[in-house]
Amino acid sequence: RASDIRTAMALLQIAEPGQSPKPHQRRLAVGIDLGTTNSLVAALRSGISEPLPDQNGEVILPSAVRYHADRVEVGQLAKDAAASDPLNTVISVKRLMGRGISDVKHLGGQLPYRFSGGESHMPFIETVQGPKSPVEVSADILKVLRQRAEATLGGDLVGAVITVPAYFDDAQRQATKDAAKLAGLTVLRLLNEPTAAAVAYGLDQNAEGVVAIYDLGGGTFDISILRLTGGVFEVMATGGDSALGGDDFDHAIASWIIAEAGLSDDLDPSAQRSLMQTACTAKEALTDTDAVDVVYGSWSGVLTRAAFDALIEPMIARSLKACRRAVRDCGIELEEIEAVVMVGGSTRVPRVREAVAELFGRQPLTEIDPDQVVAIGAAIQADTLAGNKRDGGELLLLDVIPLSLGLETMGGLMEKVIPRNTTIPVARAQEFTTYKDGQSAMMIHVLQGERELISDCRSLARFDLRGIPAMVAGAAKIRVTFQVDADGLLSVSARELASGVESSIQVKPSYGLTDGEITRMLKDSFQYAGDDKVARVLREQQVDAQRLIEAVEGALQADGERLLDAEERMVISLQMDELRELMKGTDGAAIEQQTKRLSQVTDAFAARRLDSTVKAALSGRNLNEIEE
Ligand code: ADP
Ligand code: MG
Repeated sequence: RASDIRTAMALLQIAEPGQSPKPHQRRLAVGIDLGTTNSLVAALRSGISEPLPDQNGEVILPSAVRYHADRVEVGQLAKDAAASDPLNTVISVKRLMGRGISDVKHLGGQLPYRFSGGESHMPFIETVQGPKSPVEVSADILKVLRQRAEATLGGDLVGAVITVPAYFDDAQRQATKDAAKLAGLTVLRLLNEPTAAAVAYGLDQNAEGVVAIYDLGGGTFDISILRLTGGVFEVMATGGDSALGGDDFDHAIASWIIAEAGLSDDLDPSAQRSLMQTACTAKEALTDTDAVDVVYGSWSGVLTRAAFDALIEPMIARSLKACRRAVRDCGIELEEIEAVVMVGGSTRVPRVREAVAELFGRQPLTEIDPDQVVAIGAAIQADTLAGNKRDGGELLLLDVIPLSLGLETMGGLMEKVIPRNTTIPVARAQEFTTYKDGQSAMMIHVLQGERELISDCRSLARFDLRGIPAMVAGAAKIRVTFQVDADGLLSVSARELASGVESSIQVKPSYGLTDGEITRMLKDSFQYAGDDKVARVLREQQVDAQRLIEAVEGALQADGERLLDAEERMVISLQMDELRELMKGTDGAAIEQQTKRLSQVTDAFAARRLDSTVKAALSGRNLNEIEE
């Protein structure tokens, strides 16, 4: 399956320029699933993507970090100490990534840490080693995975693909990148977890189809609907809940224990932790048995799977609601989804599998370990991004432009030159012309996005083309060429064809768009497609109107006194005022009507001007002199 996967993902941001690989030398790169609960590192070995084990053969590293006065402990031992040393042991740090101190306070009782930190700043967790930011804690997890990879693979890593939930915002993604840097890792790319899962299943090998990725982990739920066309994944919709996961199942069981045992829910941090561990153990056991004995302190009781299913039903329902909404967002029916991929440890819960199968009317894919599937997919992509070619010599991953590239035209409209999902490298040219008589310069404004109005797109660069020879409006031919090289570097050049004057710019994406931003921009473009068309027509009508007003004003200034009488001038000026007034509004039809009317009342004037120009030309003077 993994041997000849050809992948292309609409979600990829423009690649940052990297060093090109030396031939015949495999460059070591890994995929890292930096999870809320568990983290993994995977790599391609002998053509197969697999998670890398530690010395004890364990592939899962619990995302728990315990600070001692003189050392840092990461993984299972730290997790085990969470109950006995809660203040120095950090778990679920992913929930804190990119969050401010106020967000953290909001999470309240769920977190038994002592926080410090200024207003609206990064929260620091007070430990025996001093204050630790979430970025540092995450870096400590990544360091362990990096060392594991280097020891297993026997060499330095060129970099890693690190996965993040689809819902991570800019700050959360940036925090993840910072953590990697701190751990001495080069981030080849942040990749959305669901996309990684789809790659792991080789779904990109299908010719086409719509797939859903249901990811229920420890702390987050993500649903993603991807459409595959010609080996390219296109994100149709994403949805989910950044505060829904297996942790909540644990909390539900913990509340059940508190109620059953008649305990006070005002527990100290240590008691709270051990209660949560008891709950989690019971939950995981219920995946394989129908009932478990639960012992907490002096209390003991039995939790049946049926009772557990009832406890978590509202949470499952919330996830299904998000699924339905995501499907609706795509404007498709549930039946059109051809595969459902299960991701995340919590999809082991039998009731979750059942509920998902019921909703989509098909058995979800569960063959690849749901804990490992994300890291496995990330490793496949990491290998490609590191520049390794497949055995056949073919590049594994077909990189595409995630959002259309284009430029600004009159009226603040975006003209697309290279549509999104075009594979790179690519070069495309388009001709533009001048808008005014004698226009000698043209501003080239390079944009990225799907929307019609430039205000809804992202500005990448601006530059001027100067020295355009004087010509009447519309006569100059300016060829603008967009070129994106294999590293994703965009350069734009503009050339006036008659004179050969040229100007160009290299657009270096100092920071690319995050997957989240791209997803949002794509979603917006689907959502606003109708509005955009109306807006575009209106803008075009406004541009036409403005162009006519400017032409008439110019003509009036040049020849108004000479060729028109006072009454004619008055009629024209009234119609112009009327048009200017309408242009302030949004009634496109009225603007178009009034543009026509103004054009009609100035017809005779235009004819007279033409006459006089012809006469002047016949008398031996050239056009330029007439203009003056
Ligand atoms: P994350 O992506 O948030 O790090 P994972 O995908 O590793 O999370 O899933 C962790 C969650 O899966 C935890 O809540 C854990 O208790 C749960 N989990 C793991 N194994 C099982 C199981 N056998 N039955 C039920 N839940 C499980
Ligand atoms: Mg996960």
